[in-house]
Amino acid sequence: MSNKDPIIKRRQSTRINVGHVPIGDGAPIAVQSMTNTRTTDVEATVAQIKALERVGVDIVRVSVPTMDAAEAFKLIKQQAKVPLIADIHFDYRIALKVAEYGVDCLRINPGNIGNEGRIRSVVDCARDRNIPIRIGVNSGSLEKDIQEKYGEPTPQAIVESALRHVEILDRLNFDQFKVSVKASDVFTAVEAYRILAKQIKQPLHLGITEAGGARSGAVKSAIGLGLLLSEGIGDTLRVSLAADPTEEVKVGFDILKSLRIRSRGINFIACPTCSRQEFDVIGTVNELERRLEDIITPMDVSIIGCVVNGPGEALASTLGVAGGHNKSGFYEDGVRHDRLDNDKMIEQLEERIRAKAALLANR
Ligand code: SF4
Repeated sequence: MSNKDPIIKRRQSTRINVGHVPIGDGAPIAVQSMTNTRTTDVEATVAQIKALERVGVDIVRVSVPTMDAAEAFKLIKQQAKVPLIADIHFDYRIALKVAEYGVDCLRINPGNIGNEGRIRSVVDCARDRNIPIRIGVNSGSLEKDIQEKYGEPTPQAIVESALRHVEILDRLNFDQFKVSVKASDVFTAVEAYRILAKQIKQPLHLGITEAGGARSGAVKSAIGLGLLLSEGIGDTLRVSLAADPTEEVKVGFDILKSLRIRSRGINFIACPTCSRQEFDVIGTVNELERRLEDIITPMDVSIIGCVVNGPGEALASTLGVAGGHNKSGFYEDGVRHDRLDNDKMIEQLEERIRAKAALLANR
């Protein structure tokens, strides 16, 4: 086995399909995000979905809080390429409406819809139209009696809440669903997912809710989701950040890339730099990350400031550069080629990375 082969054995689960994206049963782990525009502002919401599509999002969730938003959803759905999940709380009529408008998944908790007749109408509609449901339990909004029983949102409390919704769908003989049990505390969320993973066979959607800003939220999510994914738990994920939603997608893919679960685009390997560096490594990496966001072909590119670690990293990368005086050694598939000019490093590397990506994509 190469040290770049996947090393994680995934939990067995059933499969659902969110539009054209398969979830569970060994399907690639899907990266999700959520729009934060007003859904009634169709233009802004579509623009955000397009931006998310450009960075590779698999599925986008859109809040549909009102009937006006449901009407806007109809227009948004017509313009989105990726599958859309409608996020609905309480109002079953909105669920029926977006189902009519072609929603790909309903995020609704059956226990919160109301009486049996309403629950049944939503579940029957989902069944008739092949629309899966996501049960989404959040540590911040547990049922009152569960809060009183446990005193605080413990992992067991969150799972008990989720299982209530699962039991409703079981009773109605509906198994096309996935479940999330999110908490803002990493340990609580991780433990809740571990418990739930043993109790149901459906796919799990991972997330650390309200994780925080771009940096702290990314770290928290990487730890929480990383622990779960490394144990094989998780079939879709969302990194919740108080930041531009496209950042959520980038961090989501970075987490999957780090765990060698799913590659998309360039995996940059860069040294932290020190006084030995022969060119501006940090500036080069940051600029190339920005310029090459559109590349989806997986490849490792090592950018190392000197010959201490440069040749070694380059040997194990698709492309690599090892800093030298005025000119730096360039490697392709582990073989040393020519040298790049340190003062034209960004342009020359961009050109070569793009050429390599095109070559690999055409294979
Ligand atoms: Fe410093 Fe060279 Fe190590 Fe980079 S690879 S941190 S430049 S010694």
